[in-house]
Amino acid sequence: MSLSGGCFCGKITYEINGALRDARSCHCSRCRKAFSAQASAYAEVVPGTFKWLSGENLLTSYESKQGFGLQFCSCCGSTLCGIYQGKIHGVTLGCVDGDPKVEIGQHIFVGSKAAWEKIPEGITQFQEGPS
Ligand SMILES: [Zn+2]
Ligand SMILES: [Zn+2]
Repeated sequence: MSLSGGCFCGKITYEINGALRDARSCHCSRCRKAFSAQASAYAEVVPGTFKWLSGENLLTSYESKQGFGLQFCSCCGSTLCGIYQGKIHGVTLGCVDGDPKVEIGQHIFVGSKAAWEKIPEGITQFQEGPS
């Protein structure tokens, strides 16, 4: 299977030749800031299946001290992917075009969710990380 994605302004596009895995949403305060939203929505890519199609030169990165980081479009600000030690680790589900063919399986760190977020009933959730 093949998936495609891109940023808000359309200058950066990518393709993934394979399925995404381990989709999750983290509600911690750091992910809220990083994703500018109530939570992250993120899935891992199988190594070797991800390819930038356009605009790779417009990417800008923010890396935390543990080697994990995020890459953004320097033109429109969309958060496109997560990197680990310089390599693509996963993608933000919001930037995948159409159906990413994966569903969020875990909502983590709901114990530190935003005061204004209402978490739906019946989802798999963890107060902190998955046990
Ligand atoms: Zn853009
Ligand atoms: Zn988080």
